Amino acid sequence: MISKDFVYVKPENLKEAYEIYKDYEKKGLTPFYYSGGTEIVTFSRKGLISPDILIDLKNIKECKDLYFDNDNLIIGSTVSLNMLVDSNYSKIISKSIRFIADRTTRNKITVGGNVVGQLPFREVVLPLLLLDSKVRIYTSEGFKEFNINEIFDKNLKITKGDIVVQFILKKEFLNLDFYYDRKVFFSRVDYPIVSTLFVKNTSIKMAITGAFNFPLRDKESEDILNQKDLNLSEIVKKIVERLSPLFKSDFRASKEYRIELFKIILNDALRYFGRS
Ligand SMILES: Cc1cc2nc3c(=O)[nH]c(=O)nc-3n(C[C@H](O)[C@H](O)[C@H](O)COP(=O)(O)OP(=O)(O)OC[C@H]3O[C@@H](n4cnc5c(N)ncnc54)[C@H](O)[C@@H]3O)c2cc1C
Repeated sequence: MISKDFVYVKPENLKEAYEIYKDYEKKGLTPFYYSGGTEIVTFSRKGLISPDILIDLKNIKECKDLYFDNDNLIIGSTVSLNMLVDSNYSKIISKSIRFIADRTTRNKITVGGNVVGQLPFREVVLPLLLLDSKVRIYTSEGFKEFNINEIFDKNLKITKGDIVVQFILKKEFLNLDFYYDRKVFFSRVDYPIVSTLFVKNTSIKMAITGAFNFPLRDKESEDILNQKDLNLSEIVKKIVERLSPLFKSDFRASKEYRIELFKIILNDALRYFGRS
């Protein structure tokens, strides 16, 4: 529930949505794009945000897209997590997002909302980083496209008011070999204390969330992961040494406990990929 008066609009196209956003901003009011709404409603209830207008993106064709275009899978930003999991176009994506919340909530949470949101977990980001997804964004100059790895550093670096429209993934990457593990404190439907995805193409790639205050893909850790002259325990030791300053403590788990879980995941993943 949002306990204040606000305007709600559901434009049919990106230009209209963008112009409404800018118009409200110019008047000194607070606009928000609305996708699944789960974060917006929670943050409003807690008094963390106070929207004057919600611009619902779910009527915009490009944002609703979920289809194959020659060599790519196009995922619109308002596609719900369940739609993506149920499509099973990519086992890597399905497996790494199907434990987010519960089924009812995943009907609401959207791919774009999870990636742009403020909460630290943003588990949808992991497969997008490792599969080198492109992000199509609607800006004041029209459409722009970036590799997500270029514009994701703790958060997606977009200009206020820009609209995340689609994620574009190469078909050939969708079903690469992968290893995924998600550790939770209490029940399966809980935020992760460590969630790690590994994908193997010519080398092993790794992305982590839950352990830190943001999702992370760290190229230096990946270099260590793939060093042929190191054995399994040396790889684990070096990566943990490198990443340990980033691990957090909170009411779910201490930093030390998270590090131990991460070590277990790293060991299991490396063994899965044949390292000893
Ligand atoms: C019970 C529960 C459990 C959860 N568990 C997990 C979990 O374990 N792991 C996890 O990763 N997540 C989890 N989530 C989801 C997470 O907490 C966020 O609520 C969710 O990701 C937000 O997605 P949304 O589609 O609802 O976004 P919204 O609430 O619609 O939007 C979130 C933010 O993104 C902006 N935005 C949305 N779409 C766009 C766009 N296309 N372009 C530009 N800006 C945009 C909005 O303006 C807003 O600021 C859980 C949520 C709930 C309710």
